[in-house]
Amino acid sequence: MVLVVDALDPKDKASVTRPEPLPSLAGAGRGELCAALTSVGVPDKQLRMRVNQLWSWMYVRGVPSFDAMTDVSKDLRARLAERYSLDRPEIVSEQVSQDGTRKWLLRLRRSGTEVAAPEIETVYIPESDRGTLCISSQVGCTLTCTFCHTGTQRLVRNLSADEIVAQILVARDRIGDWPDAVAPDDGRLLPSTERKITNIVLMGMGEPLYNFDNVKAAMAIASDGEGLSVSKRRITLSTSGVVPEIARWGGEAQTMLAISLHAVRDDLRNELVPINKKYPISELLDACRSYPGLSNARRITFEYVMLKGVNDSLADAKALVQLLKGIPAKINLIPFNPWPGSQYECSDWEQIERFAEVVNKAGYASPVRTPRGRDIFAACGQLKSESLKIRASARGGSVAQSGTAGSGQGA
Ligand code: SAH
Ligand code: SF4
Repeated sequence: MVLVVDALDPKDKASVTRPEPLPSLAGAGRGELCAALTSVGVPDKQLRMRVNQLWSWMYVRGVPSFDAMTDVSKDLRARLAERYSLDRPEIVSEQVSQDGTRKWLLRLRRSGTEVAAPEIETVYIPESDRGTLCISSQVGCTLTCTFCHTGTQRLVRNLSADEIVAQILVARDRIGDWPDAVAPDDGRLLPSTERKITNIVLMGMGEPLYNFDNVKAAMAIASDGEGLSVSKRRITLSTSGVVPEIARWGGEAQTMLAISLHAVRDDLRNELVPINKKYPISELLDACRSYPGLSNARRITFEYVMLKGVNDSLADAKALVQLLKGIPAKINLIPFNPWPGSQYECSDWEQIERFAEVVNKAGYASPVRTPRGRDIFAACGQLKSESLKIRASARGGSVAQSGTAGSGQGA
């Protein structure tokens, strides 16, 4: 067995010598499964059938080990288990908000020359008619939107497709969203009606269109009808506006699209969402107009974060509806979620309502997105750094108590 030994004084080595974990197939695509089966000696003519078997166990039933795959021969299960695991990323902390939102800090495996294991966050938001999973596509972000906490962290790396899919598996494990789920043994399982992940939003850490191929492969697995089966109409990719990739995404991946607009003038958007300097508003909206599959039934969501005194005037609201004329659109007004050191304030509630009224009168559905999970820093734009703090308080126990990082903010 291969051992990983840290470069320490030899007398200390014994205490830190640990076996290198087996490669995990959790989150793997059909191609990877095929390769794994071949590597353990499955003959070519059986591959298709075996891949389908594994696929169903892994993505319909969510089993975490080969042992549970009862219609696979004992011998093959053993051969697989010798070389591979179905381990998920390690849960460093789990937090449950007063409103039921759950946030997980996950530790990934080190890849290549990485010195430290990167960590990402995934958030589950239960609502009466749906359960939305907000997943990360990168560790950190190369972009530097001034109101976003993730934007203050440099990009560590892109997530692999497996790591993106694994976030769904972890969430399903923890909320008991598998057919034969055994409840996590912590007495805090959600009522069964609130346990379903019906929607996925790529709105966690990172710019998904800068990790195009892996995000695309992951969403193909998430939407596979023989497996996880989340319909593409229930998957939304949110982008800050990587214009050249928008049409390509619509053509190749066909999910719903959300655009982080946040400003109606280039001078302001250059400041808030600096990628605008490269791809200004007019180019961005042209890409939206020609987004493949766009229709009244499949509208683009425009996200607009409400920043007090910055972008929240009624003139801005009027300009916004003018700008979006002719595009089948929904407008999502997001109350700004503050984070330590942020330079903005959230608009006053009355101003958000007045702004929403202008937008509504123009015929747009414009739900004001209720901030979810603010008490655990799980709301939009709050991901990652804060969790370093949370982790410190969660150390010593596998599950942090709800609200340990409560910031006392109100909407
Ligand atoms: N990088 C992608 C997806 C991740 S951000 C993008 O920018 O679209 C998901 C959403 O949260 C974006 O609309 C983003 O603008 C918004 N957001 C970021 N920081 C926020 C904050 N502090 N308060 C409210 N929304 C925020
Ligand atoms: Fe990156 Fe999106 Fe945050 Fe901008 S808003 S810094 S693109 S994660």
